[in-house]
Amino acid sequence: MLQLTDARTLAHGDRLEADYCIVGAGVAGLTLAAGLASSGRRVLLLESGARESSASAQALNRGRAHLSSLYRAGEPYLEKSRVRGFGGTATEWRHECGAIDGIELEARPWIDHSGWPIDRSELAGYVERAQNLLGVAGDEPAATELPDWDEAFEITWLRNPQEESVTALLEPALAGASDIEVLTHANATEIVVDPAAGRVIRIRARCLEGPELTVSAGSYVLAAGALESARLMLASNRVRPLGIGNEHDRVGRYFMDQIECQIGTLLLPGLAARMRPFHSVPTARGFEARAHWRPSAKLQRRHELLASTLRLGRLDEATEPPLTAEVESLARETATAGERVGSYHATVTLVVEPRPDPRNRVTLGEDRDPLGMPRIDLEWTDHEYEAWTLRATSHLLAEAVGRSLAGRLYLPRIRRLPRYARPRGCHACTTRMSRDPEHGVVDLDCRVHSVPNLFVAGSGVFPTLGSRPPMLTAMAMALRLADHLVRES
Ligand SMILES: Cc1cc2nc3c(=O)[nH]c(=O)nc-3n(C[C@H](O)[C@H](O)[C@H](O)COP(=O)(O)OP(=O)(O)OC[C@H]3O[C@@H](n4cnc5c(N)ncnc54)[C@H](O)[C@@H]3O)c2cc1C
Repeated sequence: MLQLTDARTLAHGDRLEADYCIVGAGVAGLTLAAGLASSGRRVLLLESGARESSASAQALNRGRAHLSSLYRAGEPYLEKSRVRGFGGTATEWRHECGAIDGIELEARPWIDHSGWPIDRSELAGYVERAQNLLGVAGDEPAATELPDWDEAFEITWLRNPQEESVTALLEPALAGASDIEVLTHANATEIVVDPAAGRVIRIRARCLEGPELTVSAGSYVLAAGALESARLMLASNRVRPLGIGNEHDRVGRYFMDQIECQIGTLLLPGLAARMRPFHSVPTARGFEARAHWRPSAKLQRRHELLASTLRLGRLDEATEPPLTAEVESLARETATAGERVGSYHATVTLVVEPRPDPRNRVTLGEDRDPLGMPRIDLEWTDHEYEAWTLRATSHLLAEAVGRSLAGRLYLPRIRRLPRYARPRGCHACTTRMSRDPEHGVVDLDCRVHSVPNLFVAGSGVFPTLGSRPPMLTAMAMALRLADHLVRES
């Protein structure tokens, strides 16, 4: 049975033991625990927050983020895009589910450091298991066709499982567990390694107000989110001055987040009725699915694009980020034109895959948090390729819409990344998977290259993030890791 214990009720200096110690009870940590539920082993999760999020735990997320044009200086990107609490960040939004697939997993010669080194069909099997946990497996929406639509852009569907939080969806899988405990208010502050054996021997944890304790386990998994897992590895530098697993200076590098931007408005003469199902269709199980368009693999190869996913929105829907005056006037123009000819009109939002770049990185800042941990210093500044992809994909879509549907895509002038582009809050790749230690932090089993009993779960292990929402793939990878840990024991 899943048990939640407030760590503040424990005695100072308590030494706890488990077979598996997981740092973080967000979706990645909880999915991993669900995967270990039937192992008969003791699983202990250290969670910084509690059932309800609190301002003091949330303040531990503060740090410095330098994101150039994407976020104005001083805006709290690091706090706004993460939640400290049972269930983590996913407790705050209504989920869109889809897995990274196809060309987004391939090594693409025009994108340095691209390519997932694991077997695609194996990953697909775990994606299906993750869908089962969320109750969306095999629940495709009925086929909806758009005759004459250009094959340059594929239509795919993303699903919203339901109103319930992911945590609520995962709890049935955890309820049957023999021995899983979540210690709330427990902040992991140091990974302690035995210098001779090179293995983790314990994790130190502290409460903001309350005791300090340690956990010893056979295997340890960092599932604290892509930023915090890297921070904890870098800050655990007493024995290894560069931090744990950082012999090749890779921990924290390749940081990325998806970039979302409302690119313009769409007008399709005479297609109002035909387009309606693309906005929202109920699936067989009563969930909601929404159509997305993606440039085909052929188009991406031909133009050397980063991947992207396009979403249509109703013109009268509240838009976020707010449309600029330029796009707003285009929207009005499109709506008026649409009314005149009884046509379909919509806003078009594009999510573009970020480019892997080792210069984008998490380091430790000078400031310390109330637990004495150095705060994060995040650098993610060069978005030229993303901006170029945004422009190129917009123009290719405009051509396709004109060619096959006699429609118009009204685009504001996009030169650099527009002011209204923004990061989505899907952090990844800071502890990326690689075949060799020179190019990443974890191996193909998600084990830290240089530490045999330390693993990482979550989108931090992704080699690339792609343009799809990351949670389902992170869940699939956590289930894959659970199987590995059970096999290994
Ligand atoms: C606004 C928004 C909308 C999103 N929408 C979608 C979407 O529609 N679909 C999708 O797939 N993804 C979406 N995402 C991304 C998704 O939320 C994340 O990828 C996912 O929640 C990450 O899960 P995680 O478990 O890896 O990390 P987290 O959710 O960050 O969980 C990490 C946990 O670790 C805890 N922790 C951190 N440090 C420590 C420590 N030192 N000691 C102990 N515990 C610690 C934290 O308190 C937290 O509970 C969205 C993100 C945002 C911000």
